[in-house]
Amino acid sequence: MASRVVIAGGGVAALEAALALRALAEERVAIELLGPEPHFWYRPLSVAEPFELGETHRYELAALAAAAGVTFTLGALEGVDAVRHEAKTSVGEVPYDLLLVAVGAVPTPAVPGALTFRGPADTERIRNLLREIAAGDVRRVAFAVPWGAVWSLPIYELALMTAAHLRAHRIEGIELSLVTPEEEPLQLFGPAGSEAVADLLDAHDITLVAGSHPAEFADGSLSLVPEGQIEVDSVVALPRLRGIRLDGLPQTLSGFIPVDEYGRVRGVDDVYAAGDITSFPVKQGGIATQLADTAAEAIAQAAGVDLQPEPFRPVLRGLLLTGSQPRYLRHELNGIGRADTASPDPLWWPPAKIMGRHLAPFLAEFGDTASPPEPLAPPGAVRIEVELAAGEMERLAAPRLEEARGEGDTVGEAMSRDPLVVSPDDVLGEVAQAMRDGDTDSTVVALHGELIGILTSRDLLRAFAARVEPNRAQVREWMTSEPIAVLAETSVDVAVSLMKEHRIHHLPVVDGKRPVGMLEFRDAALLVRGRGIGLGY
Ligand SMILES: Cc1cc2nc3c(=O)[nH]c(=O)nc-3n(C[C@H](O)[C@H](O)[C@H](O)COP(=O)(O)OP(=O)(O)OC[C@H]3O[C@@H](n4cnc5c(N)ncnc54)[C@H](O)[C@@H]3O)c2cc1C
Repeated sequence: MASRVVIAGGGVAALEAALALRALAEERVAIELLGPEPHFWYRPLSVAEPFELGETHRYELAALAAAAGVTFTLGALEGVDAVRHEAKTSVGEVPYDLLLVAVGAVPTPAVPGALTFRGPADTERIRNLLREIAAGDVRRVAFAVPWGAVWSLPIYELALMTAAHLRAHRIEGIELSLVTPEEEPLQLFGPAGSEAVADLLDAHDITLVAGSHPAEFADGSLSLVPEGQIEVDSVVALPRLRGIRLDGLPQTLSGFIPVDEYGRVRGVDDVYAAGDITSFPVKQGGIATQLADTAAEAIAQAAGVDLQPEPFRPVLRGLLLTGSQPRYLRHELNGIGRADTASPDPLWWPPAKIMGRHLAPFLAEFGDTASPPEPLAPPGAVRIEVELAAGEMERLAAPRLEEARGEGDTVGEAMSRDPLVVSPDDVLGEVAQAMRDGDTDSTVVALHGELIGILTSRDLLRAFAARVEPNRAQVREWMTSEPIAVLAETSVDVAVSLMKEHRIHHLPVVDGKRPVGMLEFRDAALLVRGRGIGLGY
């Protein structure tokens, strides 16, 4: 009998997985798609909509499902009873043999006072902003990337397209800026991507403010953390992504579901996850489809298909909509070295904005009878590609326990013992007081004695700059969850390289999962420097 596969979601990852699974397992699986709304939205071109350069496409999910050979049920996943193999949904219990959770992430406003751009729903608000600029009511606009889980490409596109729009309409004297916590623009895409984007921003007279967190926009001023402010009339910000709460599944504090390299939800049998809902830190359509393909292979194998699933090897590709010279970029990150290229030739084909091995051609074909999926790359588009080597997911997705031991001094010799330990429910005011009393600028966050996060004075600064109420704001909202941690036996050299690689100044030290110390960069560096080893700074 066919295995019953339920796929919760009606977006990019869900459709890619359904198509991949149908191709791999054919009639060995009966696939049911479950989604709370009847449409599939193809959102990437929503940034072009306010400028009349593209439009968001909408497809009937029931029609897509029928064409893909799967059934579609209107309903929302609310939880999972893994023992009974039942999905708890808004339309009752749905039994499954294998379940894939692909419910996406929820965009939440991240910069108080700013216009949050979430996609199609906010097109009209951007159009209004353009009208206000044309009318002379708005003369200074900042585009802002908040900290946390975001997909930052759209804000660069919005800034560049706004600049191109102003030029085309001969509107002069408008000051545009782009504020981002990244050290370089579009840092994720590597040096070549960053350089190309920096050039583009420069060519469009957009001032780049890198290494700054936009905190709040009020009274004509965008406050920045760790310091500074920009006087502007309007701020457009990206939302911060969060996952919805699902009973019975492990989730991070932000609601993301941890998965292994085959898309299997950690600790829950027969449940898989793909797309923005997973704790993989890059929230992008192409990455969503790749993990969906991996999970589909693992599900097919579990359904009895004779295959060996390939572990997840994410490749980041992007197509940046601009309005100037076209350029194609590629960045490889392979654990050994880096290779960057910038070339005038396309590096992959077809040039769909969301790549999906099955989804892109499926939508293109479906487009013959419905609306076309998208135009070919418009003039001035910049293509970007980044390969993330195997194991990169683990590295990026922390938690990670660095077990390398190596020679020489150990972390145990350089760490401070008995670190200040707080609970995720503690309020920031009390924690700040305890940190001052203990003369420390960091604290570990533990639940039931196990390390779950770290909070530093920098986090407190960020929180207070965002004008949080010290007696209400909780540690869980401001800490870094699932931090990288090391064992006391780890060599200090390894710990120092880790801190440099991840640009962090504190490393919690654990015994099992129990926090036993804190290693500070300056202490570790002093020890290493004392031995005469160059740190490269
Ligand atoms: C403005 C904008 C531009 C973007 N540009 C690009 C780009 O150029 N390239 C790129 O690769 N990516 C881009 N992205 C990101 C990309 O859209 C997402 O990474 C991708 O859609 C994630 O796929 P997903 O399937 O995880 O989630 P989604 O595509 O968001 O789909 C989630 C699905 O789950 C459904 N759902 C929600 N709750 C439930 C529930 N409880 N039960 C069942 N179903 C549920 C939703 O209705 C939806 O159908 C952009 C995003 C935005 C907002």
